[in-house]
Amino acid sequence: MNHRRLLLALGVALAGSTFPLRAQDTGLATTYRAAADSLIRAATRDSAAYQRLARLVDGFGHRQAGSRSLEAAIDWILTQMKKDGLQNVRGEPVQVNHWVRGVESAVLVKPRLDTLHMLGLGGSVGTPKGGVTAPVLVVSSFEDLERRTAEARGKIVLFDAPFTEYEETRRYRSDGPSAAARAGAVACLVRSVASFSIRSPHTGRTNYDSTVARIPAAAVSVEDAMMLHRMQDRGEQVVVTLRMGARELAPVRSRNVVAELVGREKPDEVVVLGGHIDSWDVGQGAMDDGGGSVAAWEAVRLMKELGLRPRRTVRVVLWTNEENGVEGGSGYRDAHKAELGRHVMAMESDGGVFAPTGFAFAGSDSAAALVRQAAALLGSIGATKVEKVPDSPEADIGPLVEEGVPGIGLRVEDSRYFWYHHTDGDTLDKLDPAEVARCVAALAVMAYVVADLPSGLPRS
Ligand SMILES: [Zn+2]
Repeated sequence: MNHRRLLLALGVALAGSTFPLRAQDTGLATTYRAAADSLIRAATRDSAAYQRLARLVDGFGHRQAGSRSLEAAIDWILTQMKKDGLQNVRGEPVQVNHWVRGVESAVLVKPRLDTLHMLGLGGSVGTPKGGVTAPVLVVSSFEDLERRTAEARGKIVLFDAPFTEYEETRRYRSDGPSAAARAGAVACLVRSVASFSIRSPHTGRTNYDSTVARIPAAAVSVEDAMMLHRMQDRGEQVVVTLRMGARELAPVRSRNVVAELVGREKPDEVVVLGGHIDSWDVGQGAMDDGGGSVAAWEAVRLMKELGLRPRRTVRVVLWTNEENGVEGGSGYRDAHKAELGRHVMAMESDGGVFAPTGFAFAGSDSAAALVRQAAALLGSIGATKVEKVPDSPEADIGPLVEEGVPGIGLRVEDSRYFWYHHTDGDTLDKLDPAEVARCVAALAVMAYVVADLPSGLPRS
């Protein structure tokens, strides 16, 4: 040990025993008020994050796993991160699914001819070339299908389940096709998982149960699902032709984007923050999750710009392929297995970059108390709420939370999020530059404070 390191160690020992303990005991407000305020000021002084997001989504468009646009966007981000002066900028290889939609349509052929507004579900198999033409059985829930199982054989089953909240309603998209197949259906349609609709279909991943046949599956707009349901209720025979060119191609190589601000005292200990850089193949993936990705990136860039280097390393990770298998999230866990014990916290923004309200936190009670104190520094932007949740608040950090890493997700005023989620309408214009800036501020302050805490976050 040289003199400098000895002095440093002494300093850390002293710091560990007196001053910082006091800081944690009496609240983090005094210690971190100045740093938090300067991060908030810098994030909200202009629309830099929004402009960067515009450059990303207008420049590359959607970023579906397996697409050239995803890899081109990743190349551009890596170049920009180096220009920003971030450290250890790299793309970490991850093998990802490569599902393609192909040409698709759903046509109502009885009781009258009409075009239905549809999007195939991610992971779905295609139909035979001429499509599948069959009578439709509309059900409103899994229980309703149970009751009418005898009628489902040979039909296209349509789940017309109204939106309640995302996790509950999306079960029809995830599990509906296999439930329909178990009842003998030849294809499955689901009402789009949407809290509002202008006849826009919403895609998303479906999960086939390996014990039943894989049948073609698509979402139809809320309006179309309700119309078909009304037709059935009137006793009319409903017949649809579904054509889908969907295919699963061979997996391809993609990358998780990683960049760092190396910690000044404990560089081996890490706070991760990020979003997922992939999107569905519709819209621009501006809110899901270009916005979260850019907000996390900007949060770290601002720390660097302001010379705020916390004790520990802050690592921004833009995970690849969340939508079609969370392969970026599990790939990151596998690649960093040896250092997960030194991951102090993992944070993700994947719920839209609308006005931030606070955070959802999965971890110990004593860690939650510290996170609450950090969030209290965000009073000026209204992001102080911390809700404790039992499971990982976001998908990409899920594999880390399962390994015991405290996990935190940004929470926003999301009443419009499921209007646009997984549709052609997920484009930049729906976002407000000032709200995006506040998301950057919230992520920056939380990441900075936790990365700088004298003794880290206690694990469960
Ligand atoms: Zn997402």
